[in-house]
Amino acid sequence: MSDRFHKRLWRNAVSFSRSQEPHASIHAVEGLRECPTCGLFQHVPRLKPGHLAECLRCGCQLARRRKTSLIGAPAAFCITSAALYATLLISSLMTLNVYGRENTVSLMSGPIELGHQGYGAIGVLVALVTVLMPGVIIALMAAILYGASRPQMPDWTPRLLTWYDRLRGWSMVEVYVLGVLVAYTKLVDLALVILQPGVYLLGGLMLSMAAVDSTFDAERIWRSRDISPTLDDHQGNLLSVAHLDARNGVIPPVKNMLSCHACDLVLAFDHTVPQEQDMGDCPRCGQILRRRKPQSLISATCLLVAGVVFYLPANLLPVMTYTKVGQGAPSTIISGVIELWQAGMVPLSLLVLFASITVPVLKIVALTIMIIGTRFRSRWHLRNLSKLYRLVVIIGRWSMIDVFMISILVAVVHFGFLANVTADPGMVCFALVVILTIFAAELFDPRGMWDAAGLNDAVADPVADSSAEAEFPPASAAISPSSDSNDMEPERA
Ligand SMILES: [Zn+2]
Ligand SMILES: [Zn+2]
Repeated sequence: MSDRFHKRLWRNAVSFSRSQEPHASIHAVEGLRECPTCGLFQHVPRLKPGHLAECLRCGCQLARRRKTSLIGAPAAFCITSAALYATLLISSLMTLNVYGRENTVSLMSGPIELGHQGYGAIGVLVALVTVLMPGVIIALMAAILYGASRPQMPDWTPRLLTWYDRLRGWSMVEVYVLGVLVAYTKLVDLALVILQPGVYLLGGLMLSMAAVDSTFDAERIWRSRDISPTLDDHQGNLLSVAHLDARNGVIPPVKNMLSCHACDLVLAFDHTVPQEQDMGDCPRCGQILRRRKPQSLISATCLLVAGVVFYLPANLLPVMTYTKVGQGAPSTIISGVIELWQAGMVPLSLLVLFASITVPVLKIVALTIMIIGTRFRSRWHLRNLSKLYRLVVIIGRWSMIDVFMISILVAVVHFGFLANVTADPGMVCFALVVILTIFAAELFDPRGMWDAAGLNDAVADPVADSSAEAEFPPASAAISPSSDSNDMEPERA
């Protein structure tokens, strides 16, 4: 009943807008949001500062309004991050003193030493995520904030914002900090370790970059961006874009809608949108519009299988060899954990156990269940699996702790016969497991699980299940204050 009502209203709205603008075949829908984890379209009102909206079905965060100023607070932390980063590049991290001989290392020493030992690819990877990416991320944020502060936002600002979102996870300063901590703990037993200013700068950089993220409000930047009146559909047609406010009760059919993966703008076409087809450039951010990630299931499966192939050698082969006065033995990931435990570093050994053993296994098992569930159109624990997917995406990068620790140890313990650490092939396999499973999780589209189960055919309308008289317009996402204030801005009709 309510579904037919929606469709009739939608047809009327389309024909009404056509009579005024004959070529308008796309509508930018305001007030609706698609959950990126489960694919449910739902009503999201304008949020008050400090409030966040969560998906009704899977609990994923849909939108969040920061309480801080749009430019001021993130700009202050961004400038702090830039200053810390620039100083860090020319500072040393630590000095190791073995029987009077000293060795001082900086951020780049690890990647360079890995290159000397024949592990150039891993050296490049470590340099990329610990040296280059933090700089790129800070520069992108500075440019975005500058663009957003201009009276008319330049066209490059949204493009940089999409790149920021894409690359943010590859800046692993916080994971590197833990890698330094584990390396330091292992070295304290061996010899005299003198922490240099770089370690404190690194800690400061981690905090200031986290502060940028927690004060930056991408949502408001997108809102202030004008939606282009035309859309290039990549098939030689220039379609005009009309506006539609879902809060007025006009809801397009779900099969006709998609949301931009970069700026979350919901667009409604006058026909069914194919699942993976390129539908043109987003009229707000310019990214390619697709309803679902292309070839998601097959590419995630391939990467996961590759990750599983490297998993056994990653755990069975030694990851590094530590020799002292000519004696020593290669150690594996698990023997590193046991050594920490035996040295009385119980919390640290549990942390490494979690990051290096539990997280990769969890990622592999969770993604396998999700892929098989999607293939067999299962409805088994979809809500929990969606939560698990978000967890897998967040914690995946923390497994790099061991790789970072080895990169620091090979650089700092470099005293020839007296004491020496060399990297071993197990480290390459382990890094491959981490990277392959990160990509597998990125390429997997969790909305596919709900699609396959046939649960994505309607806009959120929980009242429809319990009552014949469906609530209209569709139910709003769950709004909760992330602060003490409790009132909500009234929806704008
Ligand atoms: Zn959801
Ligand atoms: Zn967009």
